[in-house]
Formats: sequence, structure tokens, C-alpha cells
Amino acid sequence: MKILVLNSGSSSIKYQLFDTETFKPIARGLAERIGLRGAKISQTNATNHKITLSGEILDHQQAIEYIIAFLTDEEKGVIDSVDEVDAIGHRVVHGGEKFTQSTLIENDIIHDLHGCVDLAPLHNPHNIKGIEACELLMPGRPNVAVFDTAFHLTMPSKAYIYGLPYILYKRHGIRRFGFHGTSHYYVSRKARDILNLDLLNSNIVTCHLGNGASVTAVKNGQSIDTSMGFTPTEGLIMGTRSGDVDSAALLHIMRREDLNNREATTLLNKHSGLIGISGVSSDMRELEDEAKDGNKRAKLAIDVFTYRLKKYIAAYAGALGGIDVLVFTGGIGENSALVRKLATEGLEFMGLVLDDDKNNQLEDEGIISHIDSKSKILVIPTNEELVIALDTERVLSGNLK
Ligand code: ADP
Repeated sequence: MKILVLNSGSSSIKYQLFDTETFKPIARGLAERIGLRGAKISQTNATNHKITLSGEILDHQQAIEYIIAFLTDEEKGVIDSVDEVDAIGHRVVHGGEKFTQSTLIENDIIHDLHGCVDLAPLHNPHNIKGIEACELLMPGRPNVAVFDTAFHLTMPSKAYIYGLPYILYKRHGIRRFGFHGTSHYYVSRKARDILNLDLLNSNIVTCHLGNGASVTAVKNGQSIDTSMGFTPTEGLIMGTRSGDVDSAALLHIMRREDLNNREATTLLNKHSGLIGISGVSSDMRELEDEAKDGNKRAKLAIDVFTYRLKKYIAAYAGALGGIDVLVFTGGIGENSALVRKLATEGLEFMGLVLDDDKNNQLEDEGIISHIDSKSKILVIPTNEELVIALDTERVLSGNLK
């Protein structure tokens, strides 16, 4: 069986084609700047053959037409015909309280997904566009939605209710949802495999640190708390998002700077976080270079990022009643030895002792805690597309638990 996994963003679609015999991608690609000038699509197949095309990509539907053309390309494609695609798995950012697990898109489901748009206006409409384009271009093929929020729906109410009037939860669904669920799920399972851990009797803290970043407390395999909230703006400092801010400070800023709702949303999501503090970049690699060259605000941004992260790790160890494993993943978590060091420095009292040599020398995946550390510290490259492919297959075979 061949499963196409699509991650449709506002102006991009990331994709991978999986063969379920091995669950290894046979091709992966990216369509970017959809609807903008300088659009581009590129694909690499398992034998490292590349295809790229620059030009106009009008909308998501046209992008998926190109993706199909690339996959079936006579010379560098990986399938003879689009009929070989058996199913499509879609990343959907927000499933609200309704979607507790990955779901086959049939009957009223699209309508229900539209119902979640209000919860994630920046993400869900594009995810839905991807689904609708596939229904049009690959009719009759099953589409499965895999939600970023679903893994976190096991959180108890004490973790997801805000200190706001309860009626606002009932009336508008204002509560913590959490995101990056497929990533936190994947790395917690992978940690079990690497350490031969009894997952049903374990306390794991997972840190997904990419452009967006979140921390999750995983108890006995289930999410019990997570740092992102009603939206992906809460929690850690991120590339361009603020993370936790005194909400009254925002109201004050809106008043003093005469900002409307849309401008305030842009301020929090696009001009804050690492770029906002440093004034130079949202990219951790660049900030590390700048800080090395003596840029004080770049250093401050790294310090604020890692200090906030450390507080969340310690808080979640408290929520879990201990910590057996700490996992780093995402572009920063997988690659920045400096961030991993600063975020764990001082947590030795909780049994988290980093091994500096292992941390500095690590390539790809592995254990970076000291041999005498009571709790293990791991780096695990995330694989959200694999989770989507696996879930799609499980939904179709009726094996999703
Ligand atoms: P996204 O959330 O968009 O998928 P990624 O998971 O790819 O993003 O993470 C992007 C972040 O990872 C950027 O801040 C980038 O600077 C950081 N990163 C990647 N490689 C390194 C590295 N070697 N050192 C430090 N940061 C890195």
C-alpha cells in the first residue's frame, strides 16, 4: 500500500510518499510560495534523484497537480500512475475537542473540520484546502486527518482549564489544547524503544524545539500537560512567537501603541520571541553565531529561551511526580548542543546530569546523559510524517485504538 502524507500550510505543502511494507518514504518534496511570486516545487526520491520546478503555483489544487506530476514523472518519478496512491494522510492542526483521534474523512467530517476553523484560523483553512484538492484530483481515494491536538486530549481538566470565567470555556471552548501532538507522541514511543522502557509506568518530558516550540509531560504514555495552549502562541519562547506573556501587558501595549486585534495578533506571532528579543534573527543557528561574535541581544534571546525551557522541564517533572526521561527534538533540540546544555544546567538536583562530551559529539540520535545520571536525557529526531502514515494505515485497517 502507498500512502501520500501531506502537510498543507498557508503557502507551502510538504509531502512524503510512503510504502507501508517498510514505512520508509520513497519520495519527499516541498511546494513553496504557493500563490506568491517565486513559487517552487522540489522533490527527492529514495535514490536521491531530484526534480525541481520554478514558476507560478496558483493555489493548493495546482500544487497538488504538480506533486502528482512529479511522483509519476517518467524519468525521476516513483510510481507509474496516480492510481498507485492508495490513501492520503493529512496533517490537521486543530481538531478541537471533537477529534480525539485520527479520522477517515467521510460524510460530515469536512463540515466538522470547518467548525474547527475558528479555533485555528491561521492553520486549519489550509489543511482543509489540501484535503479538498485531493478529493478533486484523486477521487475515491480515502483521506485521513491526523490532528496535532489529538494526543493532548488526555490532559485532565486541571491542566486545560484557564483561570477565566468557566462560562467562556462552555460558550467558546476557551481551554488549553496543545499542539505538536504527533511529534510528542512519536519521540515518547521512540524513547521507550531506545531505553527498553516500561511506557505504562514512566514519566517523560518531551521538548519539541523548532520554529514553533513546546514541552509536554507524558505520564504512562499519555499527555497530561503541555506548554502550548488555546493557540500555538503560549508557552516557550519561539522563533517569532512570544510564548507566555502577562495578558494584561498585551492589553496595555494595545492601548499605548493603538493596536487593533489583527495588529496585536501579528505582534505576538510574527515579531516576538527570538526575533523580537534579539532584533537580528528568529533562527537559533544565526543567534548562536551572533552571540559568539559578542552580540548581547542575541545572547539575551538564547538566555531567555533556555531559561523558560528549563522552568518548564522542572515544572513538568513536578507535575509528573518525577522524571525518568527528558527528550529533545525539532531542529533546535536535535542540533543545538548549547541549548541542551543551558536548558539542563542546574537540574542535576532532579537527577538530570548531562554528559558534555556526549552532548557535543552527538550525531543524529542518542543518549546524552552522564552514565551516573538517574534520569536519561535523549536526542531523538522527530518524524511526524511517519506517524501520519502509520495512523492513516491504522484508520483504514480499522486498527486505530
Ligand atoms: P520547523 O518548526 O519550521 O519545522 P525546524 O524543526 O526545522 O523548524 O527547526 C528550525 C530551527 O532549528 C531554527 O531555529 C534553526 O536555526 C534550528 N537549527 C537547525 N540546525 C541547527 C544547529 N545546527 N544549531 C542550532 N540551531 C539549529
